[in-house]
Amino acid sequence: MKEFDLISIGGGSGGIATANRAAMYGAKVAVVEGNLLGGTCVNIGCVPKKIMWYGAQIAEAIHAYGPDYGFTAENVKFDFKTLKKNREAYIDRSRNSYNGTFERNNVTVIKGYARFVDAHTIEVNGEEYRAKHIVIATGAKPAIPNVEGKELGGTSDDVFAWDELPQSVAILGAGYIAVELAGVLHALGVKTDLFVRRDRPLRNFDHSIIEVLVAEMEKSGPTLHTNKVPQKLVQLENGSVEIQFEDGTIFTAEKVIWATGRVPHTAGLNLEAAGVELTERGFIKVNEFQETTAEGVYALGDVSGEKELTPVAIKAGRTLAERLFNGQTNAKMDYTTIPTVVFSHPAIGTVGLSEEQAVKEYGKENVKTYLSTFAGMYSAVTSHRQQARFKLITAGEDEKVVGLHGIGYGVDEMIQGFAVAIKMGATKADFDATVAIHPTGSEEFVTMR
Ligand code: FAD
Ligand code: NDP
Repeated sequence: MKEFDLISIGGGSGGIATANRAAMYGAKVAVVEGNLLGGTCVNIGCVPKKIMWYGAQIAEAIHAYGPDYGFTAENVKFDFKTLKKNREAYIDRSRNSYNGTFERNNVTVIKGYARFVDAHTIEVNGEEYRAKHIVIATGAKPAIPNVEGKELGGTSDDVFAWDELPQSVAILGAGYIAVELAGVLHALGVKTDLFVRRDRPLRNFDHSIIEVLVAEMEKSGPTLHTNKVPQKLVQLENGSVEIQFEDGTIFTAEKVIWATGRVPHTAGLNLEAAGVELTERGFIKVNEFQETTAEGVYALGDVSGEKELTPVAIKAGRTLAERLFNGQTNAKMDYTTIPTVVFSHPAIGTVGLSEEQAVKEYGKENVKTYLSTFAGMYSAVTSHRQQARFKLITAGEDEKVVGLHGIGYGVDEMIQGFAVAIKMGATKADFDATVAIHPTGSEEFVTMR
C-alpha cells in the first residue's frame, strides 16, 4: 500500500492548492481526481465563463458602442465555433500547466474516484492508499429543483459543452450563474429570457446596486421576468421546451437552463467509513481549522459550504497546508470580508456588508451611506449610455468603511485594491485623503460626499 503525508481528494481549486503548498514544505503528497484536473473553475466554471464574457464585451463594443466612436460595423460575423475552439485550447493549456507544477513539487496524481476505507485509508480503482492527513475537496454540482420534466433543462455544464448557440434560451434561477449566463448569451445574440422566482435577481446583494442591474436589463436585455416559479417542463414536438409556471403562465424556448444553486459533491465517498459527518444541508461539517468530525480528515472549498468561490477554496487549502506542514499551528482561514465580482452586464463588484446587513449588524443610527450614480465616460459618449452606481457604507463615529459596492464598466477590475483597504480597516477619512485618479470610474470611491 502506498503511503503519503497528505492526500487531497479532488483536483480542483482547493485540492490542488493544498497539495502544492504542502509539497513545497517537503510533504509526500498525492492528489486524486476522477475527472479533469482543474475542477469546476478551470473546466466548467470561472474560466470558460470569463472567456465568453470577454466575447460578449467585444460584441457590445462592436454593436453598441463602436458606431458612436466612428467605427462601421457592417457585415460583422460571429462564429461561436471559433470562440469555443480558442476557449478550450486556453483551458487545455491551463490544465497542462498543473502537471509541470506537480512534477516540480513531486506531487503524485492518482486518476480515479476515491472512497474512504477508514479515516486514513482511501481506495481508488481497487487500490488502497494511506495518509496521515486526508483533505476532502470534492466541490459541488448543479442543484436542480424537483419539478416535473426537470431533465428537459440543462445546466451551466451543458452551456459550456454547446458546439453552437441556440436561437433562444430560458434561464431559471436568480444567482451568479443565472445572471452571468443570461448577460453573456444575450450579448452573443441568443434571445435570452431570465426567470427569477422572487422580485429581483441577486437578492443578497445591496439593493441599490441591483436596482441598476435591473434597469440595465430592462433597457438593453436580457428580458427579466420576476415572480416566476417553475412548475413543470414539457417537451414540444418541434424540439423546444415549454416551461409552465405556478402562476399559470407558459413560456417556450429552444433550451432551458437551470441555474438554481449548487449542492455539495459527496456521493460515493463512503464518508461513514471515515466517521465524517454532514451538516443538515449536506455539506461536510468542519470547524474553523477545516477539521471534520474525523481526526486527520479535513474539508474545504465548495464541499464545506463556505462561500463558493475559487480564491476561497485556494486560500483555505494553502492555510491548512501552512498549519500542518509549516508550523503555523494557529493558522485558520478568515472567511470575513471576501471580495467578489459578478460578471454581469455591467459588472458588479462588492466587498463587505450590504446596507441591509450593515443596519442589522450596527443599527440604523450608526450606519451612513454614500451613493454616486452616473454614466461612465466609455458609454456616455455614445447613444447607449450605461449607468454606473457606486456605494460606500460606513459604521460608527469613525466611519469605518464596512461595505463597498459598485456596478458599472470596469468595476470587475476595481474592487481588489479597495478590498485590501477595507481589510485593513480603512475609514471614510482614509478614502477622502486618497488622491483620485482621473478620468476613471474608480475615482468616485474617493470623492463621495
Ligand atoms: P472543484 O473545483 O469543483 O473541484 C472538485 C474536484 O473534485 C472536481 O474536479 C471533481 O471531479 C473532483 N471529485 C469529486 N469527487 C471526487 C472523488 N470522490 N474522487 C476524486 N475526485 C473527486 N468562482 C470564482 O471565484 N469566480 C468565478 O468567476 C466563478 N465562476 C463560476 C462559474 C460557474 C458556471 C460555476 C459553476 C462556478 C463558478 N465559480 C466561480 C465557483 C468556483 O468554480 C468554485 O467555487 C471552485 O471551483 C470550488 O473549488 P473546489 O476545489 O471546492 O471544487
Ligand atoms: P446561487 O446560490 O448564487 O443562486 C441560486 C439562486 O437560484 C438562489 O439564490 C435562488 O434565488 C434561486 N433558486 C433556488 N431554487 C430555485 C427554484 N427552485 N426555482 C427558481 N429559483 C431558485 O447559485 P448559482 O448556481 O448561481 O451559483 C453557485 C455559486 O457559485 C455562487 O453562489 C457563487 O458562490 C459561485 N459562482 C461565482 C461566480 C463569480 O464569482 N463570478 C460565478 C458563478 C458562480 P432566490 O431565492 O432569490 O429565488
